[in-house]
Amino acid sequence: MKTYGLLGKNIGYSLSPVMHNAAFRALRLAAKYELFDTKEGMLDSFFNRLRKGDISGCNVTIPYKEKAMEFVDECDNIAGSIGALNTIALRDGSLVAHNTDCLGFTQALRGKNDGDLDLDPKGKNVFIFGAGGAAKAIIEALVLLNVKKIAITDVDRKKAENLADFAGKKRQNGSLITIVEDRTQYEEFISKADLLINATPCGMKESDAPLFDYRYIHENLYVFDLVYAVETPLINRSKTASRKSINGLNMLIYQAARSFTLWTGKEAPLDVMRKALLKKMEG
Ligand code: NAP
Repeated sequence: MKTYGLLGKNIGYSLSPVMHNAAFRALRLAAKYELFDTKEGMLDSFFNRLRKGDISGCNVTIPYKEKAMEFVDECDNIAGSIGALNTIALRDGSLVAHNTDCLGFTQALRGKNDGDLDLDPKGKNVFIFGAGGAAKAIIEALVLLNVKKIAITDVDRKKAENLADFAGKKRQNGSLITIVEDRTQYEEFISKADLLINATPCGMKESDAPLFDYRYIHENLYVFDLVYAVETPLINRSKTASRKSINGLNMLIYQAARSFTLWTGKEAPLDVMRKALLKKMEG
């Protein structure tokens, strides 16, 4: 029996075991997926187990997506460019880092399946709320897909600046990214945007203040909310006011599916993973 799992801290909320264990069962693979809730001081011992093959591959989440880069032997182009990983696979005894959030986002953005946005962002203006880990993977994807301009805002100005530096290094000819720090500028930037992305947890709790005045959502705006656990007020309002809106569910499934393939060499059973996820979320 092979063991895979999720490395992180306080990760009891994770839905990854549900998706991966359902996929292993469907493909009759002798494998299981566990949570490795790990304190920073125990990271060495976790990576020793991985290197010895006691664990055959893993996902990595908050707060170790960047720290884990210190423990791997190689990384793919995307993980290397972002400087953060969410998947580690073993290849001939080497630990190889991947970032499947970037691919999962791209697939949900451009895909044509139910729950995908079906948008080619080439030449488009994008407004992003949040400048954390997810936003970094998203910016990597958007640059590769040749967007025109990105406006970004975060309650923490420093994080927005770090992300603007990161994006600035990717495209030096012309200003790719603008930091929007004042709520009074939201209307101006959103009115020019083709795509609005929520990369914050805002909207998960009923008590959360609105991200912005939802009357600014216009009929040509596509909306992608990374939150998947609940229907956020942003998605609720976008359903009637915007061109098309999706939540983060397909991105979550696609990033997991890509990790599954990296570990097993097999195509992931997307429908099985989706059904298991929805059942867990409903029940
Ligand atoms: P993160 O690193 O904590 O980044 C979120 C950022 O948004 C933080 O800098 C936060 O600032 C900021 N923020 C919070 N409320 C804000 C507001 N109202 N306006 C502007 N900025 C605000 O989190 P993350 O890992 O990037 O994840 C962000 C969200 O995406 C989470 O809900 C996560 O579950 C979701 N996600 C979904 C997928 C998927 O597959 N669907 C994948 C990755 C992430 P403070 O830290 O100061 O609050």
